[in-house]
Amino acid sequence: MGRLEELLEKQRDLEVNPGPIAVKDKTLVEQVLENQEKAHVIQTEIDRCLKSTEVENHKLQYDLYAPKIRALEDERDHIMQGNIADYEEDRDLKQKEIEELYLVVNQVRRILTFLHLERPADMAIDDDDITTYRDKQKVNLDYIFEDEYLKIKLFIVENDKPKNKYSLIALGRTLFTEDQLKLTYGYGLSINTKKRCQLQEILREGPSVEELLTWLGKPSQSQLLTGLQGDYHTVKAEYLDAIEQYQIDDFRELLTDLCTCGNFLTTFDSMAYRNEVQKCGRCGKEMEKLRNG
Ligand SMILES: [Zn+2]
Repeated sequence: MGRLEELLEKQRDLEVNPGPIAVKDKTLVEQVLENQEKAHVIQTEIDRCLKSTEVENHKLQYDLYAPKIRALEDERDHIMQGNIADYEEDRDLKQKEIEELYLVVNQVRRILTFLHLERPADMAIDDDDITTYRDKQKVNLDYIFEDEYLKIKLFIVENDKPKNKYSLIALGRTLFTEDQLKLTYGYGLSINTKKRCQLQEILREGPSVEELLTWLGKPSQSQLLTGLQGDYHTVKAEYLDAIEQYQIDDFRELLTDLCTCGNFLTTFDSMAYRNEVQKCGRCGKEMEKLRNG
């Protein structure tokens, strides 16, 4: 028996006991046509089911569940936003509390920076300490401000520019740091200073010394000083108040290291090497360790 006859035989057996096809004795062609027709019917049914399933699912997804999901998401978002708002409100209150706590801390910190200031023997600005590069021209002018803790002097120095070859500059020395006074520490002044000047500012540039001197004759002293002194008067008053009222011993529990020269470190200073013996930044001696971090 050939392969095809075998298949046909099997199909007939199925039809007899019992099978989908009950008719016997069909020709191969009839069988093929009938099977194709039936298969087509079944395939059509599959396609119809797919379509109705898709329609049903589309309804479920977009008509039934999408609004529910959206509603749930809205509900969830609303709760989450409420949580965040609650947190932010609470955080702001706590931050305010922290700020209030730090009022005293920052005040003490400021007093300690005042007590830590090392007063130089002489804050004068020596003309010879100010030198120009490559022997360029320099004209020494006068102080425009002289006070116990701040001195400001003017100079005219030749710069490297082709046209406005001269700079009128203000140099200042002070007990305080430039940060404390909010002074301008500019670069590009074409000078070297032997002692550090916390204020370095170019006031004007011009083609000649005469032009700058003429310009300098115009503004009043106070106009010239505007912006040069920073917060000097306020900070000086605070400083005088601090050193009058307090001594370093008042803050002994905050000190970590103390030098015989008077220099000290506090818990406000860097935590690095907190437990090691410190070399004094001013005199180089080993500082006494008062407490570890
Ligand atoms: Zn020292």
